[in-house]
Amino acid sequence: MRDILPPESGRWRRFTDVFADVVERAGYGQLITPLLEDLGVFTRIGDATDVVTKEMYDFVDKGERHIALRPEMTASVCRAFAEHRPTTPWKVFYSGSNFRYEKPQRGRYRQFDQVGLEVLGADDPNLDVEIIALAWEFYARLGLQQVSLIVNSLGEPDDRSRYVDALREHFTACGDALSQQSRATLERNPLRVLDSKRDVDQQHIAAAPRIAEFYSDDAAGHFEAVLTGLRALDIPFAIEPKLVRGLDYYRRTIFEFQGGTLDSAQNALGGGGRYDGLVEALGGPGTPGVGFALGVDRTLLACDDEGVFLAEPVRLDAFVVDVTGGLQAAAITAELRAAGLAADRGYDNRSMKAQMKLANRSGAAVALIVGEEELANGTVVVKPMRGGEQTAVSRSQISAYLTTHSDQN
Ligand code: AMP
Repeated sequence: MRDILPPESGRWRRFTDVFADVVERAGYGQLITPLLEDLGVFTRIGDATDVVTKEMYDFVDKGERHIALRPEMTASVCRAFAEHRPTTPWKVFYSGSNFRYEKPQRGRYRQFDQVGLEVLGADDPNLDVEIIALAWEFYARLGLQQVSLIVNSLGEPDDRSRYVDALREHFTACGDALSQQSRATLERNPLRVLDSKRDVDQQHIAAAPRIAEFYSDDAAGHFEAVLTGLRALDIPFAIEPKLVRGLDYYRRTIFEFQGGTLDSAQNALGGGGRYDGLVEALGGPGTPGVGFALGVDRTLLACDDEGVFLAEPVRLDAFVVDVTGGLQAAAITAELRAAGLAADRGYDNRSMKAQMKLANRSGAAVALIVGEEELANGTVVVKPMRGGEQTAVSRSQISAYLTTHSDQN
């Protein structure tokens, strides 16, 4: 778990602001849910997933309730939907921290942040296209260029379970030729064997049956409509039949965004898909859903790699250097801040030299200097910090002066 210090933390806030701006203009409202849920909310997303079986931060609270820190947010959104029964389609977005007890490494942390959205109560393939397009627009707003989109369809639940049977049969026949890890995965979730990156498994994965052979007409039609929609919006994609993703509840469309600059093990910037049955499992009516979550930590690493959306210190308009005791600095900074300018000051009545050093380091456009002489004659010296003549300005005019001159600095 990490501390995020300024100016990096400012970039995190901007990241969320840009996301909110993109999705609010598409009719999504922000949903804020608790960091904690009843453990059962998450065990229902799938007993066969690592997130649930191995990585949960869970504990028994003082009221003997079995609680977990959320490892992801889709389950919380579905729990909230089941509880509040809003009108559909319910379009919501979220941002915040999740917790997974994973092996920490670059791009993988035990506390990490996500932004994401979900739409509950509509089956329309246009929604699958809409949310992918919104993520695409968001990446463009960040300035990222090396993002690729892979898509797949898992078919209807029936198609999927026939496919899982076929995979089980295929991989079981491979016997000991399959890696030991994949044989263990096969026991729990045959789909997940397709995820294996181990060399010995690759030829067996390549020879495995393909999900497309199992699609019902409905599933094939839905997938085709999504692909047509993406093409119409000029969003480039590749179909990846091996893409399966974690949740047991996924059906039909699933997708992932990958960063071209990141190590392949941690290159997923975000992903999502269509799911069914989750709201029902949480006590609500049968409700289809579709959504995605994008990892903040990892996407910012990709931004660093591409040199875009970088952390920037707040740009100060003025730094006040007051060597008359500090009351002037207090009054002038308050006045400037109220006028919408960014102003900081020196403290502890330090020497002119020490305060000028701080003014320099602050990156402020100008230093405003108040000495005994200026105090006596009601002026302030305005000293541009990046070249230019210094001038004396009447104390009463200082914020008006800076407001008209701040653009030039
Ligand atoms: P998931 O909920 O597993 O589909 O994850 C969605 C996105 O969240 C991933 O593509 C990552 O960008 C991010 N993510 C998931 N787990 C972690 C983690 N442990 N550390 C950092 N980012 C993560």
